[in-house]
Amino acid sequence: MNNSNNNNKIAVFTIKWTILIIIITLLFASFFSCKDINLSNTINTSNNATNSFEHSFQQDNNDEYLNNDKIKELKKLNITTTIPPQAEFLEAIGKDLVAVNILVTSGADPHTFELKPSQLKNISNSSAYFELGSGIEFEISWLDKIKKLNPELKFFNCSENITIINNDPHIWLSLKNAVAITDNIYKGLVLLDPKNSNYYLENKNKYQNQLLELDVTASNLFKNLKNNKFIVDHSAWGYFAADYGLEQIPIEEHGKEPTIKDIENIIKIAKENNIKVIFVSPQFNTKNAEIIANEISGSLVFIDPLEKSYIENMKKVIKAFESILG
Ligand SMILES: [Zn+2]
Repeated sequence: MNNSNNNNKIAVFTIKWTILIIIITLLFASFFSCKDINLSNTINTSNNATNSFEHSFQQDNNDEYLNNDKIKELKKLNITTTIPPQAEFLEAIGKDLVAVNILVTSGADPHTFELKPSQLKNISNSSAYFELGSGIEFEISWLDKIKKLNPELKFFNCSENITIINNDPHIWLSLKNAVAITDNIYKGLVLLDPKNSNYYLENKNKYQNQLLELDVTASNLFKNLKNNKFIVDHSAWGYFAADYGLEQIPIEEHGKEPTIKDIENIIKIAKENNIKVIFVSPQFNTKNAEIIANEISGSLVFIDPLEKSYIENMKKVIKAFESILG
């Protein structure tokens, strides 16, 4: 009995130790395998960290590149405007600080102009739109759409403080109105870029002095004209006429084709006033003007209401009026 008891005790002791050794072995094994896993995880993490560092470095580089690119663009204020004379005003005041995008490009007619899809896309690069604001058909048809597509775009109205007469949108063809328009443009540029306000003020004053000087010259030249009536293809020169006591007789007004009766009436006025010239603009069909010129043995003289180099163009226009009406 004692022997068998002893044998049993030895067997239990051996089993206990065997189990203990197995447990210890398993614990060691799991400890080292965990360590391996942790180690490989650490390596992976550090790889990831390296990757994400590279990534963020590349991204930072990209951001920096993009920012630099933006700064390059932002060196100039990108501005969209409706007609070429507004672009001259903007460039005269903003000079090297503005890049102007004209929508109704040279030779086009702002009464009927349709925007091209590529132009719509270009507007989104601008930070501001300087609208004419005088009721020109192009703006009536397109400005709402442009506003909807570009909710960030800032709008400035060039016709603020200008009285619109007889729904005539051609405000810019008065030198006095051009002074008011350049005031509005100056105010807009200062709001967009206040740190350069002195630069804009100096440029604005210089340009306005030229406008005022030309206005005085025109007033003096038009004081003693033989005839103050002139015939023109469409009613663009009403504000100009009002400034100097002239009378505009338009063949076409508010985009309406003249009737035969209208044309006969103009021929009658021309004969009564000994008018021999019909003023026409390069953007318009000269068919009706030619009919009238034939009837009065007169000729056509081109004057451009939309020429970009505004002051030079107005000098030419004033000279033409003086030589024909003088
Ligand atoms: Zn017009």
